[in-house]
Amino acid sequence: MDLSRTLAGAGAALLATALLANPVSAAPGGIPASTTPRNNLVSAARGATPLSGAPGDNPSTRDFGNGPERNEIAALGNSAVDSAALGASSASTLFAEEPASAWTVTRRKGYPRQHDLPVWPVNPEDRSIKLGLVPYHLIAPRLNALQAASDRVSAEIVGHSAGGRDLYLVTVTAPESAAEAARQDRWRELIEEDPAAAKRDRALKTGYKTPVWINANIHGNEWEGTDGALRVIERLATATDTATRDLLERSRVYVTVTNNPDGRIAGTRANGAGFDINRDHATSSQPESRAVRDVVIATQPFVMLDEHGYTDTTLIEPATPPHGQNYEYDLYIKHALPNALSMEKAIQRLGHPETTRADIPFRDYAPGDWDDWPPIFTPMYATYQGAVGHTVEIPLQVNNSAYDDLPVEELQRRSRINTDVAAATIEATLTYADTNRATLLADQIELFRRGWAGEPSRVIPDGFVDGFGPEDRYATTFPRAYVIPAGSPAAARLVNHLIANDVRVTAARTAFRAGGRHYGKGTYIVDMHQPKRGLANVLLEAGRDISGLVPQMYDISGWSHGLLWGATVDSSLRSLPRVLVTKVTKAAATGSVDAPRGRDLSLSLRDGNDVRAVNELLTRGVKLRRTDAATVVVPAEARPEAVALATSLGVRFTAAPGRARGDAIEQPVIAAAVSADELFALKEMGFTVRPVSTAILNAGFDLSTVDSLIVSSGLSYPDLTATARAAVDAYLARGGGVLTRGATGANFNAAAEVLPVTATAGRADANGVVTVTNEGRIVGSGSPAHSFIYSPLWFTGEGVTVEQRYGPAPLVAGHWLPTDEGTDGSAQAAGRPAVVSGTTAGGGHAVLFGTEPLFRAHPKGLYAEYARALFWTAG
Ligand SMILES: [Zn+2]
Repeated sequence: MDLSRTLAGAGAALLATALLANPVSAAPGGIPASTTPRNNLVSAARGATPLSGAPGDNPSTRDFGNGPERNEIAALGNSAVDSAALGASSASTLFAEEPASAWTVTRRKGYPRQHDLPVWPVNPEDRSIKLGLVPYHLIAPRLNALQAASDRVSAEIVGHSAGGRDLYLVTVTAPESAAEAARQDRWRELIEEDPAAAKRDRALKTGYKTPVWINANIHGNEWEGTDGALRVIERLATATDTATRDLLERSRVYVTVTNNPDGRIAGTRANGAGFDINRDHATSSQPESRAVRDVVIATQPFVMLDEHGYTDTTLIEPATPPHGQNYEYDLYIKHALPNALSMEKAIQRLGHPETTRADIPFRDYAPGDWDDWPPIFTPMYATYQGAVGHTVEIPLQVNNSAYDDLPVEELQRRSRINTDVAAATIEATLTYADTNRATLLADQIELFRRGWAGEPSRVIPDGFVDGFGPEDRYATTFPRAYVIPAGSPAAARLVNHLIANDVRVTAARTAFRAGGRHYGKGTYIVDMHQPKRGLANVLLEAGRDISGLVPQMYDISGWSHGLLWGATVDSSLRSLPRVLVTKVTKAAATGSVDAPRGRDLSLSLRDGNDVRAVNELLTRGVKLRRTDAATVVVPAEARPEAVALATSLGVRFTAAPGRARGDAIEQPVIAAAVSADELFALKEMGFTVRPVSTAILNAGFDLSTVDSLIVSSGLSYPDLTATARAAVDAYLARGGGVLTRGATGANFNAAAEVLPVTATAGRADANGVVTVTNEGRIVGSGSPAHSFIYSPLWFTGEGVTVEQRYGPAPLVAGHWLPTDEGTDGSAQAAGRPAVVSGTTAGGGHAVLFGTEPLFRAHPKGLYAEYARALFWTAG
């Protein structure tokens, strides 16, 4: 550990103190609806701790992306997005399976592969214009002109944003014949499929073009990555010097010019659906993240940059620990650190006073200050796909308050410097990749070789690179195989997701036994001897409780498709099941109608797709009944509709018990003050939702026809006008239902006196996968034994039903520390009610969630428990 890292550690200790001095449950009158610990604590620490002069004393901070702060502002929906991304899609492409990949490498064609890109109408409102940057509508004309001018440039559309806008991929390389391009494709495949053969192949070694990928503007209001990338593309397209010519003979440069056109135009971090795309890798709920996922798989870059802003000082990864435990981190850091240093030199050469150095978190920050733990960020995700991934943060703020407050000349001055920095980091990376092409190739081959060989995680020695110490050492034990029983929509969804991520999945050709269990024919097996086993494992494993390893984390520290996506996922530590298998390219259909004709049908609400089926039936006017919170009876006459939904959604209808009665269900009228991710998940499940907020209720929203009011974001009872408050009171008095989630919901519960419970908040930055015990008949009925939390709550009080409790030692994976006083930690939450239900004074139904069942549309296996609660509160 070097001096600067020690100093950074001192800074971090102070930061942690600032966080702990601000316990979330201490606020009088309730729980702060939003807490942004990093931002608060850093600004506090900057004021309080004048550590100056040493790099790393003022760690830059990432902005939050749909963390707890999302409880502040209710999502209002976006009609353009709804029609582009949701309304126009059929149920089957939306939710039953992984949406089809939009793009793969074109075969049997050489380079250039030019496409006349459609030109978008001029939009004078584009927020890039004020900064003197290229507005979205001018990107296509510019790329079209470049294609006309240069046979080195190819442009194409690789997907569409949530708002329906084109996502461009530019490839810059020396022209190739169809045969040459086909040979490049074969070599790329050989590297992944047969690394030993690739290693022996001398023609490959000299002839394989170094793939480098630049992703720009994933955060829409971090603009200049696009402009810097366009500058580099133009130089490469037109330069006549030998060095450039040679570089393009040896390289393919791929650029996704803007990964977030919706945000670029609107000046927002998020896409048009309100999602932070740079938190969506691994979940891939958004078209923008799916598009770049397809690009990284198809191009298999050696190195990639994700261009962001703004951190005052340029920031260049590699990151601090904790490092993702599934990386082949030695193969990563041996390039990531020197390339970061070369990028730092490049920005120094620009000569701007603002670019005299870079922050390199691995070198300059304390553990936990800027980590690469979760695979939700583009470069971390890309690293699992074989790249050496770097986040680059250009320095000078031009967004948010700066955008509104600074003079235009100053904004444009900053944007010019930012563009210089973005271009310099890209140029430096191209040079690094070209100079080190032989080692980068050998190391990507080695990465995939280790995967195929199923080698244990490497133990990396201290000093492997400058500053590498015990704090950097993370490793995992890879199981020999994962086994996923087939037959449920959840299993099909998970398997299709794995395949879309280039994880290899097979299916058993016969029934078999493994680990003392019987598995049927068609059971999915993920043989972990495969090239991208790190990616397979980071998606499927439970994860790890890292609370004790670092004082704080930036973003989520736990996730698990294995535990949270609703499918049964078993792991076999040592042995591969002994059964013949077939390669799977798409999960088998799961739907069925297992009932004699003329018989009423029964559908259990165990999965989001079951919920979707119910909503589809209600939309079509089918008269449904509910025999309990989890069971819906479909009349025999609706069999054709049921058959169609069994096919499109993979859901299973069975014979209803003879003369099953139950209460009629209507399509619920839902008013929802929810965050963007929750609104998205509700729509995925087919609910029709009327977005509300404090302002909307104050403007006179009519609650008289509403069946259930959801409160989790942007609705504060004390901030309602007297009239709006009276309307809410009247709604509750007539027995209207309420569903709440998180601190905003708990505060509403207290202020509006919905249920007689009080909420206690765990630490605001606590997040991850927890165990739960299911008790109640609504949420608790047949739910998974795991849940997800972020700023968790638990409830105390009488007269309610405990639906779900935190387990005895709840945290399975993630980061959840107590305060210095020993409060608000996972030990305090153990056994406490996490979700409660009850009847309000007005006779309505209410459910309060202290967990995060719809968080960022990730925990698909928890959707149904939320939906059961929603139906119950509405009915
Ligand atoms: Zn960013």
